[in-house]
Amino acid sequence: MPSFVIAEKCDGCKGGEKTACMYICPNDLMVLDPVAMKAYNQEPDQCWECFSCVKICPTQAIEVRGYSDFVPLGSSVMPMMGTEDIMWTCKFRNGVVKRFKFPIRTTPEGTANAYADLKGKDLNSPLLSTEENDGYKMPAPKTA
Ligand code: SF4
Ligand code: SF4
Repeated sequence: MPSFVIAEKCDGCKGGEKTACMYICPNDLMVLDPVAMKAYNQEPDQCWECFSCVKICPTQAIEVRGYSDFVPLGSSVMPMMGTEDIMWTCKFRNGVVKRFKFPIRTTPEGTANAYADLKGKDLNSPLLSTEENDGYKMPAPKTA
């Protein structure tokens, strides 16, 4: 089931130019009703249930039904993002609540350097950056 906004919890990101859910949706599905100041999914059929909007919403106002391969059907799943970890709260149909916390980073926030490990690597190589170069050389480009 696609994302849906729990209207009572949504504060429209306090009227910012672009709400958090609008910013993060890879499919540009979330929009803000500027009168009601509530966000909604404008095209539920196109939602691929990636949970990005659910995770970023600061008021935990968005839900996506969890798949039966990780929670029983009928449960609700709500994440709470921290700077170091994410906590998932699963509420089961029988009222049982379980929480699972996972670390989400290996470096302090703002210090990740995506290029640090590429030092000395041949960026023109067709190999992945983690693969060892076993002597393969790129063919020279053909000239007319
Ligand atoms: S991120 Fe959450 S609070 Fe902000 S507009 Fe979207 S649903 Fe509302
Ligand atoms: S679950 Fe993913 S695709 Fe669906 S509205 Fe949220 S961010 Fe967009």
